[in-house]
Amino acid sequence: MTEKERKEIAEVILRQIEKSEIKVEELKEFTQAVSPDDAIGRVSRMDAINNKSIYDASMSNTRQRLEQLKQVLKLTDDADFGICIQCRQSIPLERLKIKPEIRLCASCLKR
Ligand SMILES: [Zn+2]
Repeated sequence: MTEKERKEIAEVILRQIEKSEIKVEELKEFTQAVSPDDAIGRVSRMDAINNKSIYDASMSNTRQRLEQLKQVLKLTDDADFGICIQCRQSIPLERLKIKPEIRLCASCLKR
């Protein structure tokens, strides 16, 4: 991987981190506790609780991804970055741009 490619990937990661951080902020609004005395009636309250669990799941996924991205950003300077941790083949740049946190090439991932 060239220096230029490393920089490119680092920028992609930074942008994805930014997006994930925005998403976490947005989700915060929806994942606040549903108040028991909301004047929204029992059925709507159940809806609100159901929706909340969807948002909670989405929040934990987004937070997890954010952690992965932050970890991977530290690795972009490593000689091993972009190399499959199993078969040691380089992972195509296009794949890394879509999912920079992957550490396996396509064929190892299938196994
Ligand atoms: Zn591999």
